[in-house]
Amino acid sequence: MPVKPFIDTLAIVGVGLIGGSFSLALKRQAAVRHVVGIGRSRANLERAHGLGIIDRIAQQAPEGVAQADVVLLAVPTGQYPAVLRSIAGHLKAGAVVTDAGSTKQDVVAHARQYLPGHCARFVPGHPIAGTERSGAEAAFADLYNGKRAVLTPLPENDATAIALVRSLWEACGADVSEMSPLLHDQVFAAVSHLPHALAYALVHMVSASERRDALFSFAASGFRDFTRIASSSPEMWRDICLSNRDALLDEIDTYQGELARMRGLIEKPDAEALLALFSRARHAREAWRAGADIPSE
Ligand code: NAD
Repeated sequence: MPVKPFIDTLAIVGVGLIGGSFSLALKRQAAVRHVVGIGRSRANLERAHGLGIIDRIAQQAPEGVAQADVVLLAVPTGQYPAVLRSIAGHLKAGAVVTDAGSTKQDVVAHARQYLPGHCARFVPGHPIAGTERSGAEAAFADLYNGKRAVLTPLPENDATAIALVRSLWEACGADVSEMSPLLHDQVFAAVSHLPHALAYALVHMVSASERRDALFSFAASGFRDFTRIASSSPEMWRDICLSNRDALLDEIDTYQGELARMRGLIEKPDAEALLALFSRARHAREAWRAGADIPSE
């Protein structure tokens, strides 16, 4: 059985879908006494307060983190340098700092640059859960239940800090894994960042067409399912694409190669090869959905 954590004061920098859901899940488990919200938008923090997500709105980041036992960063990754600079030197001794950012190598680099004296207690994390909605009103306590969370600990991390962060995600209902920041960024470039880029590109392409009205009026469930994630926060996805640039560029190149191959089969036309490709892809997807072994090529 996982150890049930309890922390006195949690500070959340960025009380949106991810930070807000973390607070609601921990509050439901009685794993935290007091939650302080730090944000960029006063209106969002007031909504979070009204919804019971946070107990207090911090006036400034330094006083917001000063009494916190745990600080969660849940802002777009492009905001990390400014946020880390603002809290450096104001953390309580022994406070554990963690984050929920969707990329990890850049987060580790920023932590080393801006919190050099605190890296033993900075444990990078990433919950593998979300929706296309943002802001405090999008948060809900069940977001992480039955989902996965990844930690990419630093070599110098205190074991107690890793264990605390792990137990907090477990209290939210998540199944926690550990991997290196490099592997994390390669994996999520392929299965998360590329699909988001493709969804934005497709909707952009259709909306730029002169026939956009006809195209959108006949777009049905296939288009809706493929493009749902293009309703996600543009700021967040801009930052993710730029933060994980190298790995994402590799995946875009690989995908372009795959599209070129498919284009060739359609142009030829090679019905047999096209059927074989679609069948292999469908088989792999169904095995993935069923939790079975994925067949190799
Ligand atoms: P969100 O837009 O719902 O919330 C982000 C919050 O951060 C907003 O309330 C915003 O006002 C606040 N903020 C922005 N800049 C700030 C700053 N400088 N100081 C203080 N507050 C600031 O976004 P989200 O979906 O909760 O994403 C937060 C983080 O979690 C991102 O790093 C994202 O990559 C990561 N993440 C998102 C998902 C997802 O599916 N949404 C999943 C996993 C991880």
